Amino acid sequence: MSCTNKKYLSLMNKVLDEEATEREKHELYEHLDSCNECRVHFNELTYSTELLRRLAHPQLSAAFTKSVLDQLPAEKRHVILRWGSRHPVLTAVAICAVPMSLVVIGARHQTRDKNDYVLVNVSGDQT
Ligand SMILES: [Zn+2]
Repeated sequence: MSCTNKKYLSLMNKVLDEEATEREKHELYEHLDSCNECRVHFNELTYSTELLRRLAHPQLSAAFTKSVLDQLPAEKRHVILRWGSRHPVLTAVAICAVPMSLVVIGARHQTRDKNDYVLVNVSGDQT
């Protein structure tokens, strides 16, 4: 982004994280009315955030962890369980890394047409 006012980038993140006050939202939307570059960037961030929200809660069966662990050799299973219980935050980050990587890879495949609409190549089931 070459818009010189970095304040609006911070406001975009606050709005998308649902942490902005009504006044901050108003300030951002007023700027977006006059700054095409920020408006395009905000639309891209909004779209990426929506994708993340869809990916953030994968529906796994209750037996998923057990079925994966049952397929590991016994000594590795023990090591993974012990490591996971010692480092719960890192385990959660590792689990989230896969969908986050997919979003980042997907975002790199975005292209724009001359009307500033964002076109995204998405494959797979969209339901
Ligand atoms: Zn701007």
